Amino acid sequence: MKIETIAVHSGRQVDQATGAVSAPLHLSTTFERDADGGFSRGFEYSRDDNPNRRSLETALAALEGGEAAVAYSSGMAAISASIEALRLDHPGRLVLPRDMYFGVRSFLTDTAFGRSLETIVVDMADHAAIEAACRDGVPGIVWIETPSNPLVSIVDVAAVTTIAEAAGFATVADNTWATPVLQRPFEQGVDVIVHSLTKYIGGHSDVMAGAAIVREAGAHLDELRAIQRHRGVLASAFDSWLALRGIATLPTRMRAHSATALTVSRYLEGHPAVARVHYPGLPSHPGHEVASQQMREFGGMVSFEVHGGRDEAMAVAAALTIFTRATSLGGNHSLVEHRASVEGPATTAPESLLRVSIGLEHGDDLIADLAQALDSIAKPSA
Ligand SMILES: *Cc1c(COP(=O)(O)O)cnc(C)c1O
Repeated sequence: MKIETIAVHSGRQVDQATGAVSAPLHLSTTFERDADGGFSRGFEYSRDDNPNRRSLETALAALEGGEAAVAYSSGMAAISASIEALRLDHPGRLVLPRDMYFGVRSFLTDTAFGRSLETIVVDMADHAAIEAACRDGVPGIVWIETPSNPLVSIVDVAAVTTIAEAAGFATVADNTWATPVLQRPFEQGVDVIVHSLTKYIGGHSDVMAGAAIVREAGAHLDELRAIQRHRGVLASAFDSWLALRGIATLPTRMRAHSATALTVSRYLEGHPAVARVHYPGLPSHPGHEVASQQMREFGGMVSFEVHGGRDEAMAVAAALTIFTRATSLGGNHSLVEHRASVEGPATTAPESLLRVSIGLEHGDDLIADLAQALDSIAKPSA
């Protein structure tokens, strides 16, 4: 089946008890035992398993083409659980991309567990540097994030997994920005895929959840499950219900986000107040060729740098009226964010950079909004 059909049908069935077509929400924390003490209906206590969470996990595994999915209370819960679980058989260093979701870096510096890990940061376009980082010592984990945050750079997934595999390293891909609709990391040899379901999969800025999906079952899947249950870092019934509802429209939304983002990027590239546009759908992007091969479309995230610095970038963000100034991404509202301010002193984001999450509004309206905001800084004495 095609992904559009999987997205609508996977993890869903007509409710046997009532005939309800939309799945009931199971808020019950506890489930009845059989007379003989068993649980023939499959559920005992909601921290261990819940019908809505199980449906979501079934759908996520089917969407990514993996063996199983484990749904957590946030993307960061999924990410930290994945690092911990993979360290069972890959206890060596963590090879990280220079440009990546800032929260992961904060986790590695702000928690005792994170500080206990040996990390090496590399430029993921420099394959010799990845090879060098994987040499010597005990094999660990190579982290892939593509497109990356906030520079929207592209990592060649197949090339990196080949290097990692040769060195005995496991690979994790954060597929939050591309989603399984646009990018298929398991087909390129990745071992574990992580998601912030808070973003495109939830799709409406009203769910906080995450997931880890494994290509093959094994000790790390058991550990991912154990962390979810015993630490209690699980996706709630309602968040699971909302995320599954989001999945049904994910393929259609991703097409719309991608088409509008490409139109907006082309517009931005031609504006005199814009110094640089980071969007892999533009032929000028250094990752355009790789992205064309490994992505179905180029996604809804665009970053651009204005001429000037922090003040000019902040002025543009302040002048936008349709874009909301807020962090996060992947919802139906377009958002704009000055990443350097959000990330603080440790940021690697340029001060002149704004990151936009292109929503589901009409591209003409978004372009008109950007035009008036950029014109306000382009005029000599504005
Ligand atoms: C938001 C995000 C995360 C973290 O997800 P939360 O749900 O906020 O914990 C991880 N990776 C990427 C790429 C993200 O955009």
